[in-house]
Amino acid sequence: MPDPHTDPRVSELLALDREHVWHPYGPMPGRQEPLVVESAAGVRLRVTGHGELVDGMSSWWSAIHGYRHPVLDEAARDQLGRMSHVMFGGLTHEPAVRLAQRLVDMSPQGLEHVFLADSGSVSVEVALKMCLQYWRSLGRGEKHRMLTWRGGYHGDTWHPMSVCDPEGGMHELWGGVLQPQVFADAPPDTYEESYAEHLRAVIERHAHELAAVIVEPVVQGAGGMRFHSPAYLQVLRDACDAHDVLLVFDEIATGFGRTGTLFAAGQAGVTPDVMCLGKALTGGYMTMAATLCTRRVAEGISRGDVPVLAHGPTFMGNPLAAAVACASVDLLLGQDWQTEVKRIETGLREHLAPAADLPGVQDVRVLGAIGVVQLDHEIDMAAATRAAVAEGVWLRPFRDLVYTMPPYVTGDEDLARIGRAVCAAAREG
Ligand SMILES: *Cc1c(COP(=O)(O)O)cnc(C)c1O
Repeated sequence: MPDPHTDPRVSELLALDREHVWHPYGPMPGRQEPLVVESAAGVRLRVTGHGELVDGMSSWWSAIHGYRHPVLDEAARDQLGRMSHVMFGGLTHEPAVRLAQRLVDMSPQGLEHVFLADSGSVSVEVALKMCLQYWRSLGRGEKHRMLTWRGGYHGDTWHPMSVCDPEGGMHELWGGVLQPQVFADAPPDTYEESYAEHLRAVIERHAHELAAVIVEPVVQGAGGMRFHSPAYLQVLRDACDAHDVLLVFDEIATGFGRTGTLFAAGQAGVTPDVMCLGKALTGGYMTMAATLCTRRVAEGISRGDVPVLAHGPTFMGNPLAAAVACASVDLLLGQDWQTEVKRIETGLREHLAPAADLPGVQDVRVLGAIGVVQLDHEIDMAAATRAAVAEGVWLRPFRDLVYTMPPYVTGDEDLARIGRAVCAAAREG
């Protein structure tokens, strides 16, 4: 393999990158040199100096069909031939309407209205704004706080940050500045009646000031890759109904089949009042997210003194993203995706099992197309990444976690390779 630095073009790129470009959660200038991706196809990233790496991350849960999928490429090209963007105020277009129709049809019964946002964080902002405005419109502006459980992650913009885990998470820095929300304990993995009681009690105690409960159903992603019993979702639904509190599910990471059901909410048969979708919505092609709500929420808002939802991103409903999202949804629903996710779940269970015997490994867990190895120490990210790359795989560990959520099209051999890389990263990190 050629050293990327022997190519002057690549050396220049990396120098400019270090000098000028912020990377996620990074310092300026950057301390760890990023890999340079030239192109990607199927489940492989072509990386300068490293050849092809199997992608174990689906570009942060999004590229469920892999890269340069012919159907998605064609949808983008086709839409490009009509228009790539047009404003959404006063105008509409088929891709956005068709997408909204698909999302309403496939999501839990009762979610009927769709707000197309431009990123997951913005869709959470919109969800929270919907809930706050609902109660204001009903003359109950004192219901202005959110309740969530610890260990969650809902995005990086201001309001979503306030409902992320307040300790040890990425937003610890902002304690005292963010809107103070109400936090329940983190959910245990299995059902415990004492924890259900705890949830009911906190909701009841704060109901007078609560606009909504917001949680990631079944899997807490960037907050710690923890799984919990779907039965807690019904507990939340019942307690919210009993105490006049709205329920928001953030399915940005779990949506579109990742946990084995189309939406994680489906594992409990619960319909939230508001639901956020993102990440895999466009099959990882472009940024787009959606906030869905029930008729009750929409009608409540429309009854107020200000009967409109005052939100309208410039790129709302972007036709290019919407057209690819329609194609991605059709591609998913047009195949036996349950079998593919099950196959990946079985493969990950087999290939991650050896990690349990490694020193420093605290837990190995798999759910749907998600595999997690948790260590008893903070990972040396550079060493762990190097170990994965040496196995021919791209992984991005964080905190004490080495994890993978591969594209659904990952073949069995590549899955085994990802398993070896996760184990190597856990050993070397
Ligand atoms: C990624 C994520 C977000 C934020 O989405 P962005 O598109 O990165 O703004 C919000 N909630 C959950 C559960 C996520 O996984």
